[in-house]
Amino acid sequence: MKVNRLGIMGGTFDPIHNGHLVAAEMARSEFNLDKVLFIPSGTPPHKNRRDVSAANLRYEMVGLAIKDNPDFDLSALEIERDGLSYTVETLRLLRCAWPEHELYFITGTDALLEIFSWREAEEILTLIQFIGAARPGFDASDFLLKVQKEHPETQGRIHYLEVPALAISSTDIRSRVRHGQPIRYLLPESVRLFIQQHGLYLAEKMPDKTQI
Ligand code: ATP
Ligand code: MG
Repeated sequence: MKVNRLGIMGGTFDPIHNGHLVAAEMARSEFNLDKVLFIPSGTPPHKNRRDVSAANLRYEMVGLAIKDNPDFDLSALEIERDGLSYTVETLRLLRCAWPEHELYFITGTDALLEIFSWREAEEILTLIQFIGAARPGFDASDFLLKVQKEHPETQGRIHYLEVPALAISSTDIRSRVRHGQPIRYLLPESVRLFIQQHGLYLAEKMPDKTQI
């Protein structure tokens, strides 16, 4: 019987951009994934709450970005849950929902380098495999060698994926909007228009003390 393979793309997506979409699409094709499920985070444990746009806006932007790809889906699992969203809890829920599926968590190499700092990292690695998509500025080769040596139990569960690297980040997009610089072609046009319509990122969310 065919084993179904599901890709999970978690992130803050503030906003979603073409770097996320290219990584997800290449992972889908390279690892024969049946679907990629995008799960925008609720309250991210690693980011200051006031720094991040409202979950419903980030969710809507992901919806707009993936609308035309039948292999991409959107999940409100994290944004509907109260409290901090830890990846391990999300993965436990997904494991229960799809006990027979092979699950792959797609991350950029920046996030991959940090997985052992995540809460219950060892547990996470038993629940799901990882696909680390190349991200400019974050070389994973030393990390992968180290993991092989220090965590032999994870052998074959952490994969590296070369993608046409896009040096795009949400941080840069937010900064561009704030400074009146162009963001066109860095992200889907529908998301660019949404940002414009809602006046997102025009001002830094954290008040700058020098201006008070
Ligand atoms: P921020 O700058 O706010 O941290 P980001 O661009 O890093 O935003 P996130 O929402 O933090 O986007 O990232 C979600 C996931 O997508 C992470 O695993 C991250 O590594 C990955 N990712 C983000 N941008 C890229 C990119 N350009 N290429 C490959 N992977 C990426
Ligand atoms: Mg990031």
